[in-house]
Formats: sequence, C-alpha cells, structure tokens
Amino acid sequence: MISLSTKKIRYADPYITEEDVEAVAEAVRNKRLSQGEYAARFEQEFAGHLNLKQAVATTNGTAALHLAVLAAGVKPGDEVIIPSFTFAATAECVLYVGAKPVFVDIDPNTYNVDPKCVDKAITPKTKAIIVVHYGGQMADMDPIMESAERHGACVIEDATEAHGATYKNRQAGAIAKIGCFSFYPNKNMTTGEGGMLVTDDAEIAEKARLLRNHGQVSRFHHIMIGYNYKMSDILAALGLAQLKRLNWVIQKKKEAAQFYEKLLSGVKGVQTPYVMPAASHTYMFYTLKFINAGARDLIMQHLEQVGIETVVAFPPLHMQPIYRSLCKFNDEDLRVTEDCANRVLSLPIYPHIARHDQEFIIKSMLEELKT
Ligand SMILES: *Cc1c(COP(=O)(O)O)cnc(C)c1O
Repeated sequence: MISLSTKKIRYADPYITEEDVEAVAEAVRNKRLSQGEYAARFEQEFAGHLNLKQAVATTNGTAALHLAVLAAGVKPGDEVIIPSFTFAATAECVLYVGAKPVFVDIDPNTYNVDPKCVDKAITPKTKAIIVVHYGGQMADMDPIMESAERHGACVIEDATEAHGATYKNRQAGAIAKIGCFSFYPNKNMTTGEGGMLVTDDAEIAEKARLLRNHGQVSRFHHIMIGYNYKMSDILAALGLAQLKRLNWVIQKKKEAAQFYEKLLSGVKGVQTPYVMPAASHTYMFYTLKFINAGARDLIMQHLEQVGIETVVAFPPLHMQPIYRSLCKFNDEDLRVTEDCANRVLSLPIYPHIARHDQEFIIKSMLEELKT
C-alpha cells in the first residue's frame, strides 16, 4: 500500500464513486490502455452535451490549448491576447508556438478579461484571443466576439474552469471557434489528467486530431510534425462516468455556495462571488475578495494553521520574472489584475463539502477578520 497524506479540508476535492472505479476497472480488464473506443465515445458524448459536432480528447488541458493555438494557425511573431490573471497554461500554449502573449486587464467583479481592454489591445499582429472563464463564470463574450470579428482574430475559450457554465443560454466552450477543457482533479469533472478540444469546425478538429497523434494519417505515415497528446481509454472511461454526474456536481456546488453566502450575509470587509446577470456560476473556485489585502494574508495563514487549505488564484503572470521578459504589457494597464490578486482568496468547495465544515471555515475566518 502507498501511504497517503491527509489534509483536513482541501480547497477542492474530486467526487469519485464506485461507479467510477468500476468504469476504470472495466477498461483495464478489456486491455483498453491507450486511445481507442472509450475515448471515441467520451468525445462523442462530450460534444453532444455541448451541442457541438467535434471533440478531441487530449492528455491534459494544456495540450488541448496547444492544439487549439496550432489549429487556429498562430505563427511565430503573432500576438495573442490573454489575461494575466490566469494559470500559466494560458500563456504557455502561446509561447510554445513562438507567438507573443499580450496581457489585458480584468473586470474587478468577474475576474474575467474586460472587453474594452481586449478591444484596445488588438493590433494588426493579433491572431487570436484566448478568453479564460475564471473559476466557473464565463467572460462577457458578446463584445469580445464582436471585436474579434471586426479585426479577423480567432477566439479560443479557455473553458478549463467552466464545465457546464452558461452565458445567455449558451454553454462555456461552445461560443467561440474553439473551446478547451481540462479534467484535472480540481475541476468540476475529472479524469485525473485529461483535456478536450471542442469545435464545430471539421477542419480544425481534423488538424487537432493529426497533431495529437504524431501527424500520422495512417500507421507510420506522417504528414506533419505532431505530438503524442492522446487520452488513454482508462481515463476516458472515468470521464464518461464523471460526465453523467456533471449537472449534479454543479447543483451541489451551487448549494454549498448559497450556504457560504448565508453564513457571510451582513459580514463587513469581504465580498462574496459576483454572478453576472444572464449567466450561471459553477463554482470551480469559490472566491472571496477582502477590502484589505493585509487581512487576506492573515486569514489565509490562520486557516492553514487550523487545517483549512485555501488558494490565491492567481498570482498574476506578468509579475513573474519569466513572463515579464516574454510577454507584452504595460504595468499601468494591469492595475485591476494586481489589486484583485492582492485581495482574493478561494475557500474550499466541492459537491460533498459538509455544512459543519463550511461553518468551521467561516467561523475560523471571522475570528481573524474581526481582529
Ligand atoms: C486547469 C487549467 C488549465 C489546464 O490545466 P491542465 O492541468 O493542463 O489540464 C489551463 N488554464 C487554466 C486557466 C486552468 O485553470
């Protein structure tokens, strides 16, 4: 047996059932170990749930983003607009192809790119815009799609945190030309490691499929330099079982979020997650914003001491030395990003979180907030 570390309350915890275990066991028993029928079925069902024609299963969300940038035809020297308030993968996929990430600022309530900032950052070199749907809430897509169309830029949705989220009755990942998902364990559905590229464009899907499998059109016949980004059937089996439960997971997380909201009503000094009108929030993160950055840091420390894990998502990429030198931005233009990064804190949330744990988390937080 491998000895497992236990931590009292994690910030995220995947919901895994015996049905999941049985699904994985079945794939292994059938010796479906690399990509085959299970992955094909997972792609079909994932595309179906988004009402899209094409889905391409990958090793992880970063690989899906890399394939999206390649399939969108982004070339060395091109510019790609992205937020700085994101996980490194959003910038990595741009740098993998020799293009330049251009950071834009975010909306202080949704933490998603501000459409006005996107429009301002577009230049003749802009080939694509990668919109991140932060923590389960979608960006304001209509004005972004409109700016992109006016300038002939391709929009890619980094929907890795937003399975099942909606905006004006449209689903995350299904609005732009290409959508990318991750099934990392902290997302609303998981395959451990895993990802998916989705699109309605048959040519983009075809290119992504070729690049995913060494540029092979048939065995040992390669027409381009590709990658090995295939998803194993073992993981696809888990994905199929998890997909069936996605709506339930989201419902349970919404209930947990409502309970936090109730516990925090009337509490001064902290703002609960904002939900855009005509949009749904699926709470991949449950992110609070404190009035005071100092209070946030003390609360995070105190919660850690009593066994509660929280995260600051995300320390801005533009403040990290490696990205400062490789990306295009002005510090003055990223003030909202910096301010939010100083004041946000994401609390534990998962479908099976106990109400008494939530009470303990808020009680511990308030002990520190009041001092
Ligand atoms: C999780 C995540 C990804 C992709 O992660 P993988 O671990 O490669 O699956 C990309 N972008 C954002 C914003 C994410 O949160």
